[in-house]
Amino acid sequence: MADAGSDSDRLDPLSHHKPEDRPAVVLNWLQQGHERFLQGHSLHPHSTRERMQAVIEGQHPLAAVLGCADSRVPVELLFDSGFGDLFVVRNAGTMSTTAAIASLEYAVGHLDVPLIVVLGHEGCGAVSAALHPELLLTPSLSQVVGQLRMELLQYGDHLSLEESCRRHTLNLVHSSVLLTDRLRAGHLAVVAGYYDLHSSRIEWMGDVKPVRYRGAGER
Ligand SMILES: [Zn+2]
Repeated sequence: MADAGSDSDRLDPLSHHKPEDRPAVVLNWLQQGHERFLQGHSLHPHSTRERMQAVIEGQHPLAAVLGCADSRVPVELLFDSGFGDLFVVRNAGTMSTTAAIASLEYAVGHLDVPLIVVLGHEGCGAVSAALHPELLLTPSLSQVVGQLRMELLQYGDHLSLEESCRRHTLNLVHSSVLLTDRLRAGHLAVVAGYYDLHSSRIEWMGDVKPVRYRGAGER
């Protein structure tokens, strides 16, 4: 998978890799796409009408991404990817809501995605709101922001916005038996990326320890 892939590529380019090798292969593919984006050499692969037709019968995305709804963080563009390449879950604040986790479980369990990228970013409005309890918000927004605030309070109450955005990105907290099992088997990786609005660069922050599921009898 050295190049970006032409529209005539097989639809499941991972099929000849061993399951334990797939997370690294896909991460490398994403990083290559991001580097093309950064260099201004995006190829916009898989963006033709032929590709659109080819994926009608079924999708085989290479990775899932949990990102923020922020309009300045367009996931497919950042990774120079096209139709059928990425299974993208976005919401304000990159929150691991039940709906978001369910979507990721679908991507991993049914679409066999070997990699989840949790993509946080600089200057996240939801995180910023969590640092300002005086803000008046709608009930729905209050719920999301309140959850974020509770999460960040574990680090004390003096975090900067940037530090808060970074900590939140590394803190995908939710119980998921399916994701935990795949992680333990080595067939899934969850990595954190932090998108810097100023440089347009994604800083890779390492593995997320996302799923605090404990089996029966474990403490
Ligand atoms: Zn955001």
